[in-house]
Amino acid sequence: MGMAYCAFPYNLHLLMPAFCDVALPIPLDMVFTYRIAGVEPVVGGRVLVPFRTERLSGVVTALHDREPSMQAKTVLQVLDPEPVLDLGLMKLAQWISQYYLAPIGEVVRTMLPLAAEIKRAKVYRITETGHEALHASATSGSSRRSRQDVDTQMLEYEVLDYLAMSDDVLESTLRSATGADRKLLNNLVHKKWIAREDATSTRDARRTVQIAVLKQAAEGQLPTRLNANQQKILEHLSQNSGRAAVEQIRNLDVPRTTLQTLVKRELVEIIEEPADFAITGMKKRGPSHLDFIFNPQQKAALASIQESVASRQFSVSLLHGVTGSGKTAVYLAAMQAVLESGRSAILLVPEIGLTPAAAANLHQVFGDEVAILHSALSGDERAEQWHRIRRGEARIVVGTRSAVFAPASDLALIVVDEEHDASYKQEETPRYHGRDVAVMRGKLSNASVVLASATPSIESYHNAEASKYKLIQLTERVERRPLPEVEVVDMKFDFQQSGEDRLFSRQLIEEVTERLARGEQAMILLNRRGYSSVVLCRSCGEALQCKNCSIALTFHKDGYRMECHFCGFRQAVPKVCPACSSEYIFFLGAGSEKVEERLHAAFPQARIGRLDRDTVRTRHDFERVLNQFHAGEINLLVGTQMIAKGHDVHGVTLVGVVGADYALGFPDFRAAERTFQLLTQVAGRAGRGETPGKVVLQTYHPDHYAVQFAERHDYLGFYEKEVRFRKWMHYPPFSALANVLVRSDKLDQTLQWTGKLGRWFESTRNEGLRVLGPSVAPIMRLKRDYRYHFILKAASREKLNAALRRMLQFAEEQKISRTNVIVDVDALSLL
Ligand SMILES: [Zn+2]
Ligand SMILES: [Zn+2]
Repeated sequence: MGMAYCAFPYNLHLLMPAFCDVALPIPLDMVFTYRIAGVEPVVGGRVLVPFRTERLSGVVTALHDREPSMQAKTVLQVLDPEPVLDLGLMKLAQWISQYYLAPIGEVVRTMLPLAAEIKRAKVYRITETGHEALHASATSGSSRRSRQDVDTQMLEYEVLDYLAMSDDVLESTLRSATGADRKLLNNLVHKKWIAREDATSTRDARRTVQIAVLKQAAEGQLPTRLNANQQKILEHLSQNSGRAAVEQIRNLDVPRTTLQTLVKRELVEIIEEPADFAITGMKKRGPSHLDFIFNPQQKAALASIQESVASRQFSVSLLHGVTGSGKTAVYLAAMQAVLESGRSAILLVPEIGLTPAAAANLHQVFGDEVAILHSALSGDERAEQWHRIRRGEARIVVGTRSAVFAPASDLALIVVDEEHDASYKQEETPRYHGRDVAVMRGKLSNASVVLASATPSIESYHNAEASKYKLIQLTERVERRPLPEVEVVDMKFDFQQSGEDRLFSRQLIEEVTERLARGEQAMILLNRRGYSSVVLCRSCGEALQCKNCSIALTFHKDGYRMECHFCGFRQAVPKVCPACSSEYIFFLGAGSEKVEERLHAAFPQARIGRLDRDTVRTRHDFERVLNQFHAGEINLLVGTQMIAKGHDVHGVTLVGVVGADYALGFPDFRAAERTFQLLTQVAGRAGRGETPGKVVLQTYHPDHYAVQFAERHDYLGFYEKEVRFRKWMHYPPFSALANVLVRSDKLDQTLQWTGKLGRWFESTRNEGLRVLGPSVAPIMRLKRDYRYHFILKAASREKLNAALRRMLQFAEEQKISRTNVIVDVDALSLL
């Protein structure tokens, strides 16, 4: 069938079209044609269709009268009377499908967080035989039967009668309307008089919550005869402008009956409200942090963004501001202006950025007009937020990657915060980059796009240099605070001096001691979790590996277990080596768990906290540790890159980097860029308050340019060096790059397929294309799959995509499934 989904714009028909093309959530690069019967579907709306033995819901991409070569099945149900994806979002879906070579149905599924809305239920309808039986019963007299038979027969005809008048009746409705039981219905199904089917329906996913409201009468003149618990609730209510969620009151540690008593005494009433309004209950109040006085650079930045927005033309601005320069305040002010002008804005943040405190702050700035989309939302909650945005009730949308698809209308501005962050890239189909999709969405909706970062990606800065993007710079910190001084400690030299492989250098110990004595705070970064990164046998040298991946297991002292950080596999530490049975198992390399333990030993007086994926299971854990750090209950915080992102703790005057440069050894052309970004970001945490900050950077690579430019806070110097290397090596932004991964849980199959694709690349002339490989992937085995890959570099995107399309065509002819050949356009991870 091929790619037949270009039949835009909407077709206008005087007569109802005969067919529709539907994008279904399956890994095939095509749309499927169905015959329309009954209700006319809409382009951009969902329909329920039969597919193989299943019923699937998909989005209509076109309406037409072209009879397909194969017999078309009929649409079962039209789920949306109006489009759920408007024309702009449908165009964006097509662009993603073409650019990332992703099946259109999977793209559309990613864009629509509405799967939870579709509920399945049993419905009944009458069959032709049933109609005939009903007709026969009306024309013939009753035969002689027992009383019971007659009753049953009457009931059967009643069911047929009911179904003859209405389509698709829910089982519950049918039973309550006729009094039929399950056995009778089963009998009728068996006689083929009626048919039972799975039906699908959508429903509005709005939940409600209960709110306790203080009654007018109770205010001011509180009755005297109240017990302590009753008073507690009334006080809580009056402190919260007379209202609080019932669930919140349950947290007050009073018996459940107390609230009921207050309701009985007519002091409190319980009302129901749509959940999304009740969750926060926060209105705009008091001065928000936008009321800061902007410095001249911030004012100029805001003016520039506002000018772009006002022009109603597509433009991209790169907001490059050093750490602590007040970028956030600038783009929040721009978003507030958009809201006041009656239009919409979307803010994308990295995965770790949406803490409850950040959400509360956004509510304070934008009131109830903000919809916050984060990964902890349930399917129903996500659907609910989606509808709020669609109805225009929330014109400010804040969320991670997929918030770029929010159905905001009259979109004026899209902001991508920390635009260099790797979490914007989706590592499963469709493998889109949220930042790049944001730029395309801005283009399709004539909106302004702002990319903000202290360490812009090489690609974005290159676009700014080439004047494709407008460059807005904030070169100084707010209140002219200085950037922290960075001291680089050569750990090779430290080893020669001390003769031991120490985790902390003498300089770091001295600096930490000094800060803690002065009542200041410090952060220590080691970007690796667990206790030891390798578990080795001293006798045979065998490193213990994951059984699903070619990855060394990390030892976690907490629970005394080993864990694979790629697939999550866990195993107890064996008593003897599985290879040679020796008892000499030992542990090598350090992770954040070990750093915390060693810090406790070195600084017994310190109040130490740790932030990594082992201590942070939910957003609230993260928040709790950060709050303790803010409040000074913790004065020494250790963690992985989680601690590097965007926290503004004024007491931090020292940042120690214990291991951030081991990534420089990775076989990845972006290793230097990532290391520079991490070092700069974590260094930026120091000295954001009154007292100037300092950074102690321990490294085994003191001569590496990523370390040296980070030491001097020299983004431009790093960029210029890195961009020369990229140009010389034909890496992005000087080429379009894709990673083609072949994977299977059988090694011989992986090798066979890889060989076929390799020979195909060799035999076909793909001009302007360089193919590296095939080679075994750096992680040869992952989650039980064996992996080989090709890296494709092309002078132009058209050539790259044309070659990839032909390659996928060839793979299909060779019966290699789309789930075994992974195409990752603009791949960020080549592992
Ligand atoms: Zn061994
Ligand atoms: Zn694993």
